[in-house]
Amino acid sequence: MNRQKITRIDNARLRGREGLYTLNIDGAGRIASIEKNTSHAALAADGRIDAAGGLVLPSFIDLHLHLDLAYSLELVPENRSGTLLEAIALYSEAKKSFTPGNVCERALRAIRDEISFGTGAIRNHVDVGSTAELRLCEGVLAAREKMKDFIDIEVVTFPQDGVIRDHGALDRMKAAMKMGCDIVGGIAHYERTPRDSQRQIELLFDLAEEFDCRIDCHIDETDSPESRCVEYLAAETVKRGWQGRVTASHVCALASYEPVHAAKVIGLLAEAQVHVVTNPGVNLHLQGRFDTYPKRRGLTRVRELMAAGVNVSAGQDCIKDPFYPFGTGQMLEVAHLLAHADHLSSPNQLGSVMDAITINPARSMRRTDYGTMPGCQADLVILPVDTLQEAIRCRPRPAAVLKRGVRLLMK
Ligand SMILES: [Zn+2]
Repeated sequence: MNRQKITRIDNARLRGREGLYTLNIDGAGRIASIEKNTSHAALAADGRIDAAGGLVLPSFIDLHLHLDLAYSLELVPENRSGTLLEAIALYSEAKKSFTPGNVCERALRAIRDEISFGTGAIRNHVDVGSTAELRLCEGVLAAREKMKDFIDIEVVTFPQDGVIRDHGALDRMKAAMKMGCDIVGGIAHYERTPRDSQRQIELLFDLAEEFDCRIDCHIDETDSPESRCVEYLAAETVKRGWQGRVTASHVCALASYEPVHAAKVIGLLAEAQVHVVTNPGVNLHLQGRFDTYPKRRGLTRVRELMAAGVNVSAGQDCIKDPFYPFGTGQMLEVAHLLAHADHLSSPNQLGSVMDAITINPARSMRRTDYGTMPGCQADLVILPVDTLQEAIRCRPRPAAVLKRGVRLLMK
């Protein structure tokens, strides 16, 4: 990847502001100042970009991704049922032969895809357990190291095969944290009984306390209204004083709860300040598989969560793997799918959709220097469209992508 230091962006359109602006970028890669454009004729000089009236946004954040899975579709037998459960079983067999080198290579390809579409930060869930051992984690951490100048990556220790079901998982998660992972992951709904699911959640908190770290748990990724792990996660969050440090990923079952219970659970999530991540493409694809007609959409109650003040983000989740044969690493495509799946189409609602791939995940990552304001890190994406609605409708390739004030040019 080639790099070019940028000192100034002219003719930039900024979200929620009228007119065109110039963004000055300092030597530390931060936005030093923003001025209203005095002239529309930008000087073409080294270190300057003419945004030509295009929308300049903070780089997208993909808050839910599996880099060890990326581009593994051809390495795994076909998922005939198309269900989550078959995908887990198929991947469990296939990953026995994966090496750190093979994982790193596929992860790098996916990271480059994400950057090319304007992603500046990723939260990755890496499979650790008695089958994956630490090989997949080694591969993903190596990819993160190689790309550290171009993208920020948080790594979650993800026990894909369960924690109670897979006796070796907890020790591997501890070891992975010591290797440099940042966040404790989980898969609460995948245990054999509700009691084991609760026990898993308690163990995740024990581990998070040991490492004084955040939690991001795959939870209730099913259409079954009987799957009620997330209320336990919220209750435990309050009990342990972990408010604001816990993310619940997927939370699909919430969409199938009857309204009174759903309202109670949404209230609990708001009280516990649990962040929620929806993965619209993957949820649409994997959920509803046991339905005939009408078929459920599979996503959690995005608009209701947002209305209750819950911080909701949207993730890519999968890129061409046994769980999901699609996925390109383009967060604007994720936003486009989210808008469709929850009927989010008014200008205000499209603003919320854009929030779900920008400022909301930044909050989950606890980024305090994220945005297009003076003092923010110049992690920026310049899009060749003039409105947020057009960005989501057309999903264009960025005109430029910047990391800490440096333009990244894909070879
Ligand atoms: Zn996932």
